Amino acid sequence: MIASLDPAPASFVPVLEKTPLEHYVAPLKPSLIGLSRAELAAALAGMCVPSSQQRMRAQQLWHWLYVRGAQDFGAMTSVSKELRAELDRHFTLARPEVAVEQVSSDGTRKWLLRLPGETSGRPHEVECVYIPETDRGTLCVSSQVGCTLNCSFSHTGTQRLVRNLTAGEIVGQVMVARDRLGDWPGQAGPTAGAVVPTESSRLVSNIVVMGMGEPLYNFEPVRDALLIVADNEGLALSKRRITLSTSGVVPLIPRVGAEIGCMLAVSLHAVTDAIRDELVPLNRKYPIAELMQACRTYPGLTNAKRITFEYVMLKGVNDSLADAKALIKLIKGIPAKINLIPFNPWPGTRYECSDWDQIERFSEYIFKAGYSSPVRTPRGRDILAACGQLKSASEKLSARERLALRAMAMTE
Ligand code: SAH
Repeated sequence: MIASLDPAPASFVPVLEKTPLEHYVAPLKPSLIGLSRAELAAALAGMCVPSSQQRMRAQQLWHWLYVRGAQDFGAMTSVSKELRAELDRHFTLARPEVAVEQVSSDGTRKWLLRLPGETSGRPHEVECVYIPETDRGTLCVSSQVGCTLNCSFSHTGTQRLVRNLTAGEIVGQVMVARDRLGDWPGQAGPTAGAVVPTESSRLVSNIVVMGMGEPLYNFEPVRDALLIVADNEGLALSKRRITLSTSGVVPLIPRVGAEIGCMLAVSLHAVTDAIRDELVPLNRKYPIAELMQACRTYPGLTNAKRITFEYVMLKGVNDSLADAKALIKLIKGIPAKINLIPFNPWPGTRYECSDWDQIERFSEYIFKAGYSSPVRTPRGRDILAACGQLKSASEKLSARERLALRAMAMTE
């Protein structure tokens, strides 16, 4: 069903925000991945673990799950055999199932993950992408199957199927990446010749929530998942290395700072409401001025903790130097970085990517205005960030797609 969110003025195309169609149906034997410590303790209570031991046992499990990456209960040698058997009767350690894996020659890995549930015979699937660079390994995770927002340049926006991921399915994407990279203690590591970061002790050092979906329309599970990912006694990723990208769900932006404390990226893409209304229809609900105000007051914003503004370069739509000038004016006073994303075309799209020299001119203007402008880095491949168009087809990554993905490795 397509539902219009707001009564749109007659002159407008309706907002066409889709409503989530599907709900998660938990398997009979759920996975422990993604449960909070309190939920783990409650699960143990249900297994007759005495209350005096529940916290300690939950802590043990946490360690096996997130430090050791245990894939079966048998590996949990510090847990009694009886409790392991009992856990095994009620729970699994399952991660999302890898339906397709692609490894590109530059090391980019893309996983199509199959999740429980299907609609009209179509399985619920999301994508997750790993981008290795010398000094970091960035994982781009999805927050929803599909997306409700209908951004006109986004391939995901054309897909109808939508359901929210659970916290476990979001954390599960990190687990899958580390499983496939052989990146748990005691594992052999990536296969010989694999391209992985050489100057980072961690293969997955950064997370960007920039895959399919609008994370702020699935706030609690995304928050809970990111807090697990950042937990010091588990996966222990610094919050400075976790970036959540939103199309601009203004009322929830302060909660990202207050309740998650990660880095924020905002998909701006246009400097006037008229153009942004077309590109990101959510703008009709939360126009640019309100979005900018939410950015200005984002909790924890400093020069060391800047907001990233994402800006997809669309030929003749938003890529003039006047746009660049207006962009600088718009973000004045906000500690910011700008990520220019070359548009990645998909079949049937009405947009084209800006010409390369126009992207460079645009980037240079921004750089001269004093903003970090990744397109100018010597390698020229750190340019951009984007992944809304991650496809489910198991075809090879295009050069443009690789370029766009590179940029997601953007956090400092
Ligand atoms: N809903 C969130 C996160 C998903 S989109 C958001 O809007 O930020 C992640 C990024 O990829 C966004 O900046 C999005 O605008 C960009 N993107 C989507 N489709 C794209 C395409 N075809 N080419 C380039 N970037 C795209």
